[in-house]
Amino acid sequence: ATQPYDDQNVFAKILRDEIPSRRVYEDDYAVAFHDIAPHAPVHILVIPRGAYVSWNDFSAHGSEAEIAGFVRAVGHVAREHGLVAPGYRLLANVGGHGGQEVPHLHVHLFGGRSLGPMLA
Ligand code: 5GP
Repeated sequence: ATQPYDDQNVFAKILRDEIPSRRVYEDDYAVAFHDIAPHAPVHILVIPRGAYVSWNDFSAHGSEAEIAGFVRAVGHVAREHGLVAPGYRLLANVGGHGGQEVPHLHVHLFGGRSLGPMLA
């Protein structure tokens, strides 16, 4: 069963500009902003504009345009922050075992230092 979308989640409020964020990119499909508690010199969150709880329902129910737009936005942000040559890490926490805290799909983009082996 798909988890119902809570339109009071913090990223929904960021999308509606009800709470501030440090946006670095936005287009028709995606918004990107700095994580409030960064784990690396670059720690940006990229979210789709659509109301998707997680990778689960986005991958199942997102339109081709939404999915393509979101994937392209993640790549665009990485390029714009000079991360292509040095490299970077993408991470999406999904659901309870994944440790997902905010129930709106987000991809973490980490960079700006050598990140070492996979996060625990
Ligand atoms: P999750 O554990 O759900 O994958 O990650 C949620 C992320 O959202 C965390 O890294 C946390 O620091 C970030 N976060 C939570 N609340 C806010 C907020 O109000 N603003 C911003 N910019 N980031 C937030």
